[in-house]
Amino acid sequence: MTNVMEQKVQSFMARVIAKNSGEVEFHQAVHEVVESLIPFVEDNPQYKEAKILERMVEPERVILFRVPWINDKGGVELNKGYRIEMNSAIGPYKGGLRFHPTVNLGILKFLAFEQVLKNSLTTLPMGGGKGGSDFDPKGKSDNEVMRFCQSFMTELQRHIGPDTDVPAGDIGVGGREIGYLFGQYKRLRNEFTGVLTGKGLEWGGSLIRPEATGYGNVYFAQEMLGTRKDSFKGKLVAISGSGNVAQYATEKVNNLGGKVVTLSDSTGFIYDPDGIDAEKLAWVMELKNVKRGRIKEYADKFGAQYFESERPWGIKVDVALPCATQNEINDEDAQTLIDNGCFCISEGANMPSTPEAIKIYIDSKILYGPGKAANAGGVAVSGLEMSQNSMRLSWSREEVDTKLQSIMVNIHENCMKWGTEEEFINYVKGANIAGFVKVADAMLAQGVV
Ligand code: NDP
Repeated sequence: MTNVMEQKVQSFMARVIAKNSGEVEFHQAVHEVVESLIPFVEDNPQYKEAKILERMVEPERVILFRVPWINDKGGVELNKGYRIEMNSAIGPYKGGLRFHPTVNLGILKFLAFEQVLKNSLTTLPMGGGKGGSDFDPKGKSDNEVMRFCQSFMTELQRHIGPDTDVPAGDIGVGGREIGYLFGQYKRLRNEFTGVLTGKGLEWGGSLIRPEATGYGNVYFAQEMLGTRKDSFKGKLVAISGSGNVAQYATEKVNNLGGKVVTLSDSTGFIYDPDGIDAEKLAWVMELKNVKRGRIKEYADKFGAQYFESERPWGIKVDVALPCATQNEINDEDAQTLIDNGCFCISEGANMPSTPEAIKIYIDSKILYGPGKAANAGGVAVSGLEMSQNSMRLSWSREEVDTKLQSIMVNIHENCMKWGTEEEFINYVKGANIAGFVKVADAMLAQGVV
């Protein structure tokens, strides 16, 4: 980037930081995007004159609310509730709810901002949003989770709707939580609508939605490998996390002939050089989704190694799929991965790599798929769930999976279109510009709103 462009990025960021002080993850996400977009906007003055970028970093609406609930002992508990309605230029706000003690305004704004570009990349008509709470479902009884979800939805229901804002799951919000949230919405509004996605199959959910983010991430990585006439066959793969995204990424890597050797959670990671095959994965799913146990138990059960408080990036692999949380790969981890021969990193999680790590990937010219492209499969199938709800019909597993695959191929092609540089595909630039153009053109057409 030229010095002049670098200065423009810095002065844009100075304004964002001054207006959104303390929201470090939001600053990080915006910085990564404007580094690609400011040179593009300079070349396309219609966007500059209409202040599209400035408008895109300002949420259309932020809703903050109190969530009081009663614990099993009869005591009063209190959490914060949030919904960021970031951008509705191309469709109703759409994006997950995160329940995790680290949740704050800056984290949700970063996620909502990323979501706008990601949803645009899917080619489906969805705007961007994100929400959640600092509530921690871990260690709570089902009844406590239900009472919390009911209180959360009692306020949120005023602000959402199938044509307004359609939340889904994210960290800490799986099928159980979506069920409780949907039940309360239906009870308060007396309507059965597609107001949430990730619903159970019997009550409006889509086949493949649980699998979609993990599968989609592997389909995207497969496309990246294809540009080097390579595939997952025989590849060693490190995956972090052991939740929804990690589980189905593992399943799809296995199906495509790769071998997953790590999984993790917030307490540490396991290394199983024999591979986490279908049988072991079924055990992990039971452990994480039903018993709600710790990944350490895998090591005891299958005789694998367990590394307390560590991440899996020191293990020698060909492909890494970070599927846990933001900033889980720093520059040191990135360098170790590459030094050990890893040449493909595809992000199941949102913003799992620090800016320093991303710089190392780009400088090393490895295959690097940023989250907004690589993990867009989840929201894409959420979009398909919305379509099925509107039509009041259900597509088969094969139909949804075929659509998911073609969306991921399409996103990859779009990234190549906008990100191909000399002998290298810069997927960061490609995803940012491809996602931006559609939203920006819609905003231009809709006037200054
Ligand atoms: P889950 O809650 O199902 O799983 C999250 C996993 O990540 C758990 O293993 C959890 O461990 C681990 N984790 C969470 N926080 C931390 C942390 N601070 N440090 C280390 N490990 C952590 O969430 P998902 O699988 O749904 O989401 C994972 C990532 O994928 C997130 O970044 C999410 O935003 C992203 N994503 C999810 C989509 C979806 O459809 N679900 C769509 C697109 C992106 P523990 O159990 O110990 O908390």
